[in-house]
Amino acid sequence: MTKRLFLEMMLEILYPRRCPLCRETVGQKGEKICPACKRSLRPIREPACKKCGKPLNRQEQEYCADCGREEHLYTRGLAVLPYEGAVRRSMGQIKFHNKREYLDFYGPYMAEILGQRILSWKVQAIAPVPMHPAKKRRRGFNQAELLAEKLGECLGIPVMPGLVERVRATRPQKELTRRERQNNLKGAFKIRGYDVKLKKIILVDDIYTTGSTVDAIAGELLRQGAEEVYFASLCIGRDDSEIL
Ligand SMILES: [Zn+2]
Ligand SMILES: [Zn+2]
Repeated sequence: MTKRLFLEMMLEILYPRRCPLCRETVGQKGEKICPACKRSLRPIREPACKKCGKPLNRQEQEYCADCGREEHLYTRGLAVLPYEGAVRRSMGQIKFHNKREYLDFYGPYMAEILGQRILSWKVQAIAPVPMHPAKKRRRGFNQAELLAEKLGECLGIPVMPGLVERVRATRPQKELTRRERQNNLKGAFKIRGYDVKLKKIILVDDIYTTGSTVDAIAGELLRQGAEEVYFASLCIGRDDSEIL
């Protein structure tokens, strides 16, 4: 037995792995979620927005309300789960209660659900949506980066965690209006070490809301010479067209 394996076993005995959804200990060896919770997950299916992948309410709808009124700079995006209920609480646990180990389940799960579609895009690199360095220091990790690493590992696509940098701290997007969101992100991102051979890139994030962040980064990458920018998000909000 290798030293690493031994350490992992000891850690499992001392700190048994907990399910990211119900937070009970996961019984079986090597499992990252309990079977009942895995079965309860409802990954997004058709009808979904043809641009951002948001779940839609009606089959005949092509785009969500947001993509219907706004042109995006990215080519296409996909998301795994609606941002609601137990999944939403689980995301809160990761970010605010340091449950980064939950990403050991969510990363490979992203690959399981979106893998084939992502591979069909033939992207050359995966880049996580960056966090401002000061915020990352406080939290200790960037969940988008951990997701990107696991996704890249599962799909055999190189991950470039330093390609996009957040050079300016920004106000939380959810507090702002659409116009404010765009202004808020002006000059917030910088591309470092761009290789001219990089034509298709996929951005990875934990939650997609209106796409202003993805668009801001896509804009920078296109300026550098990228031809297409895609995104994959673990969670996404529901279409608001029914509420309006
Ligand atoms: Zn569970
Ligand atoms: Zn959409």
